[in-house]
Amino acid sequence: MIPVILTFATFVSTMMGGLVGLKNRDNLHRFLGFTAGVLLGVVAFEILPEIFKLLNEQNRSPVGAMIALVGGFLLFHIIEKSILIHHTQEEEYEVHHHPHVGIASALALSAHSFLDGVGIGLGFQAGTGIGITVAIAVIAHDFSDGLNTVNLMLVNKSRDRRALMFLLLDAIAPVLGVLSTFLFTLSDTTLVLYLGFFAGFLLYIGASEILPEAHSKHSSYATIGLTVVGVSAMFVISRFA
Ligand SMILES: [Zn+2]
Repeated sequence: MIPVILTFATFVSTMMGGLVGLKNRDNLHRFLGFTAGVLLGVVAFEILPEIFKLLNEQNRSPVGAMIALVGGFLLFHIIEKSILIHHTQEEEYEVHHHPHVGIASALALSAHSFLDGVGIGLGFQAGTGIGITVAIAVIAHDFSDGLNTVNLMLVNKSRDRRALMFLLLDAIAPVLGVLSTFLFTLSDTTLVLYLGFFAGFLLYIGASEILPEAHSKHSSYATIGLTVVGVSAMFVISRFA
């Protein structure tokens, strides 16, 4: 039941991010700095310790989980940059600012949001504490997922209505992801690999998407400070979860 309630929060968070994006407000960059800190904190203080705890219980080496982590990081990096390369070559003479990536990127983002949901569901399969903290990581950064979806579409010169449609898709995706995990359970061995994969995926989003976005208009000590606050907040929360 808890995962379903939390997944509703991911829906609200994504929609809020998207609607704010449609109004194009600037002051949310600080919030994104905070989000990046939350992601780093969840990986460092919750997911990785959980992985090592499970590995200890299973008496296994961490190599597989760490390969999965690298895979999670690289997979999204490669997909994202391939879309950019593909479109840049196609429209070499067009103005920059990647207007072309719109729909392909928005779809990739929805696939990522689906995995966010799967992450929550599998987090709960590992334990309630880790499920809740993974959900916090997803809810916090879904705001920026929604924002990114709308930005991608608008930069792509899509009309507001189409941007809204993709925003809805992105908001529903994590809900479907959570629901999908009710259909299967992973063995402890596979669960460790998935957690590793998910850790790499969150690290990539935090470091390569959210932080640059947070500093894209202008950097400030407030934004930097909020990243530190985000990590610290997750440290405190992880002590209690
Ligand atoms: Zn996400």
